[in-house]
Amino acid sequence: MRGLLVTLPALALATGIDLAGIDRSVAPGDDFFRFANGAWLKTTEIPADRAAYGPGAILAELTTRRTAELLRQAAADRRAAEGSATRRIGDFYASLIDQATIDRLGLAPLRPTLDRITGLSERRALAEALGATLRADVDALNSTNFHTDNLFGLWVAQDLDDPDHYAPFLLQGGLDMPDRAYYLDPSPRMAEIRTRFLAHVTRMLELARLSEPSARAARVVELERRIALAHVPRAESEDVRRGNNHWTRAELDSHAPGLDWAAYLAAAGLGGQQRFVVWQPRAVTGISALVASQPLEAWRDYLAFHALGHAAAVLPSAFGEERFAFHGTVLAGIPLRREDWKRASDVTSAALGEEVGRLYVERYFPPSAKARIEGMVANLLAAFRRRIDALDWMDAPTKARAREKLAALEVGVGYPGRWRDYSGLRVVRGDAFGNVQRAELFDLRHGLAKLGRPVDRSEWVMTPQRVNAVNLPAMNALNFPAAMLQPPFFDPARPLAMDYGAIGTVIGHEISHSFDDQGSQFDASGRLRNWWTEADRGHFEAQAARLVKQYDGYRPFPDLHVNGTLTLSENIADVAGLAAAYDAFRLSLASSEAPTVAGLSGDQQFFLSFAQSWRAKVREPALRQQVIQDGHAPNEYRADTVRNLDAWYAAFGVSSGQALYLAPPERVRIW
Ligand SMILES: [Zn+2]
Repeated sequence: MRGLLVTLPALALATGIDLAGIDRSVAPGDDFFRFANGAWLKTTEIPADRAAYGPGAILAELTTRRTAELLRQAAADRRAAEGSATRRIGDFYASLIDQATIDRLGLAPLRPTLDRITGLSERRALAEALGATLRADVDALNSTNFHTDNLFGLWVAQDLDDPDHYAPFLLQGGLDMPDRAYYLDPSPRMAEIRTRFLAHVTRMLELARLSEPSARAARVVELERRIALAHVPRAESEDVRRGNNHWTRAELDSHAPGLDWAAYLAAAGLGGQQRFVVWQPRAVTGISALVASQPLEAWRDYLAFHALGHAAAVLPSAFGEERFAFHGTVLAGIPLRREDWKRASDVTSAALGEEVGRLYVERYFPPSAKARIEGMVANLLAAFRRRIDALDWMDAPTKARAREKLAALEVGVGYPGRWRDYSGLRVVRGDAFGNVQRAELFDLRHGLAKLGRPVDRSEWVMTPQRVNAVNLPAMNALNFPAAMLQPPFFDPARPLAMDYGAIGTVIGHEISHSFDDQGSQFDASGRLRNWWTEADRGHFEAQAARLVKQYDGYRPFPDLHVNGTLTLSENIADVAGLAAAYDAFRLSLASSEAPTVAGLSGDQQFFLSFAQSWRAKVREPALRQQVIQDGHAPNEYRADTVRNLDAWYAAFGVSSGQALYLAPPERVRIW
């Protein structure tokens, strides 16, 4: 595997663009992704412990390495006071890398749970056991995480009809594999995965020394198949209007009979809650019915398998290895499991997110970087405002409300203004299993405690040490974590054209989410409300439909094309973000021209930097999983967003007859 220390200096090049990574034998107008990245693609190998490789993965590796170093220092600090952040972080990490202790304890930490499952003899107790698994582990709108291996997932966020108050959102769950398609798709490839899945479930139950593992596994797989049948497809889950269903407590009983809701909710800590938002009503109804109709025996086996899978990272290594063999190798094509210290660092980083994040930004995110980004954000917002002013299809009243929404947008750069308090979380050195379980429950209680309290708009949904960025529609806010603000996305030492082409387009992308098919349904206060005239919405939807068609036409595999509907929000944000970042770049120049670098004009630097920020190599199973399940199109097609911008045609002399060429009326312009 190529180490980071070798790879990174190659990214932070003197020119700010990877000239050696370009393949000049490819015409930019035929395949811009391969023109910008062809030589890099030919010479780069995906590390054995990764499903994909590119700038995002490289920065994630670097950040894991830096974070692990901070964690090791905390773990070694014997003077850290009981209850201090350093002590908590250090003990958490030290417990996770202490595999000898984890192996010695065996299944003992999970034994009370397994015994309770074995003893389940009636439906009420079953409902309690299912309720005890509920966690705050999904997010329908911000990070858009729709998967939970527990029966349902909980998301506590602003009520979309009443953004001054929090509401509990219930989401479908209960599948071990990533999506219903893995259970139901008739293709030979998916059928093969199902055979491997049955073997995996059998092996996990065998490792736990349960009797008749094959018979139990068959029951688990059949029950999950039925749950998958009840699930709604991912593209439907993405539709906020179909998700915003307010149910009273009584309506859970009447609309979704089967599960003993009183017992389930009491065990989940939601016993007194009277109002819920049920994101996928059809699925919640279907899953609830299965709790009553399917044999208790099948549910017991199901709960045992899920308890083992959920805790695999903190059980004896055989469990983690078996789980990786299926979820890592079979489902994502990754040959090698990540090293212990990387996994431990990531688990600690997720459990104690902002406490670790605070240490991270103190060390790695200087105020000067924050200031330069904030200057770019100001130009992006100005460019976006001008685009709104210049739209010829939009009515004046709709424009006024769009400007109002833009003005109210809260842009967070690097880290949150206020840090979360973890002092209520008990961490015990040597108890990896207990620590992870308590951290999950701490998160759940943090969510439950928000119910009934005023909304805190300064709260972040991503940690500063996460390589990503996010739009929070109901908060009308953006988070740009510090770990994303590094080369090749951002580099204070290079020309601005390149920063605008990379991090500038990311900022533009996130701003645009406020105005994409989903974000544009939220007003300035975060309320889900239509603030558009019918004619304006009609124009917007017609443009969006053309974008759906454009992306439906991309075929990464002969038997699988990109789902233009599933990826629509992200594609709108890509098109609009690129256009706004380009404007902001021109705005930053005032009336001068950007200096050429290595013979490249300012515009060429901008577009090349964009396409290089999306460079990636992805293993085939992981790419298939992405196309089926992910709201983002594969990176290659994201780089090709350029074909919708007139300036790209001029910058590279692209003409009709070339593969990416779109006649001017076919180029999609939304904002
Ligand atoms: Zn996005």
